[in-house]
Amino acid sequence: MKNSSAPPRIHVLAKPTGAACNLACQYCFFLDKELLYPGSRFRMSDEILETYIRQLVEAHGTPQVTVAWQGGEPTLMGVDFYRRAIELQKRYARPGMTFENTMQTNGTLLDDEWCEFLKENDFLVGISIDGPRELHDTYRVDKGGKPTFDRVMKGLRLLQKHEVEYNVLVAVNRTNADRPLEVYEFLRDEAGTSWMQFIPVVERIDEDGRRLYQQGTSVSERSVLPEQFGAFLGATFDEWVRNDVGKIFVQTFEASLRNWMGLPSSGMCVFEETCGLGLALEHNGDLYSCDHFVEPEYLLGNIQDTKIGELVAGEKQRDFGRDKRDALPRACRECDVLFACHGECPKNRFLTTPDGRPGLNYLCAGFKAFFHHVDHPMKIMASLMRAGRPAEEVMAALAGEEEAALEGAFAKTGRNDPCPCGSGSKFKHCHGQKGSDRGGKHRRTSAHRTGP
Ligand code: SF4
Ligand code: SF4
Repeated sequence: MKNSSAPPRIHVLAKPTGAACNLACQYCFFLDKELLYPGSRFRMSDEILETYIRQLVEAHGTPQVTVAWQGGEPTLMGVDFYRRAIELQKRYARPGMTFENTMQTNGTLLDDEWCEFLKENDFLVGISIDGPRELHDTYRVDKGGKPTFDRVMKGLRLLQKHEVEYNVLVAVNRTNADRPLEVYEFLRDEAGTSWMQFIPVVERIDEDGRRLYQQGTSVSERSVLPEQFGAFLGATFDEWVRNDVGKIFVQTFEASLRNWMGLPSSGMCVFEETCGLGLALEHNGDLYSCDHFVEPEYLLGNIQDTKIGELVAGEKQRDFGRDKRDALPRACRECDVLFACHGECPKNRFLTTPDGRPGLNYLCAGFKAFFHHVDHPMKIMASLMRAGRPAEEVMAALAGEEEAALEGAFAKTGRNDPCPCGSGSKFKHCHGQKGSDRGGKHRRTSAHRTGP
């Protein structure tokens, strides 16, 4: 039976191979987690699997249950493990209950058999690609240090061939963050992706240079810089909001729009007021507060001893979730974009505020710039949606505004001044020429694409 004080819907990231992976991406914080379980084979047993599925069903008050598989690399378990998981879901389902299985994978072990299984069972697959070859291969390498781009793209093409539903996760790091349009256009035009997630790489390291636990105030040289991340989001947003609304879905933009609309949930835990409903299950049944806090202090218990529903509803986890809001420094509480940011993820809150208080988010400068940058188009989209009209109409609205602004600028420009369209030519040789088609000629210049 469901625990009466348990929340209605929870999200558990199950890691059936623990941190074990066939690759060795340089920024991966999971790999260090192998140290938490010395000597382990990192394979979830059938007994733990059954306990997990049974308890997950019991813990849900809603008829929809998400079963999320992650790692390490979850495909290392082999397809049969997931066949058993599907059988168990059918066995323990209450009448009317439906399951959505999701899997985050590096894609390198996918083959036809995998993809047939994933399609047959309606999995939503997240595949990690950091951009075109050169950018992807910067950090996403195998254990021998060899590039992985070709193997990942082969996996992506197989997902596409079998029409498996998928999205692409980009780890935004110090290198690819400087080339936002290359990343976005590659995913959209060459990889053929319509759903993207941009996850900032923030590798926090302690005084001894270790990154096992969330400690220390420094970051690795692979970590994205705050302003760089804001500029990356801003530049991709500009491209998206002018051309791709309604066709391409970027998780951060969708979540932001929901917050601008004042909806009860953004759909992204990092932009929620509180958290605590996204837990992590290790291969041996240990349940942790969150995937980013798989460390002894945040171990809630083992599901063989205490049920998931009880662990989630327990004081320790509730405090963890509420702390996201209650521990916000004053700088955040008084921030004009708090409604959209909510101080982002507690794992990144290791800076001090200008008035010397702890708990400011490392990415603050980037998020603040990004949220200010998108405020105007977000407001347009939010009012369109509230009026029951499609958000895509924002593209025409912005184009009209830009055209009017350019016409205003043309009227004030001297013949020998630089053309306001950003072409770099003199006005008299550009939009100032007699008979020039001012409206359309240079509307999409790089000047319109700058980030925050
Ligand atoms: S700690 Fe961060 S990643 Fe974990 S649930 Fe909270 S906001 Fe999400
Ligand atoms: S933008 Fe910065 S100050 Fe504002 S809520 Fe986010 S982390 Fe806090």
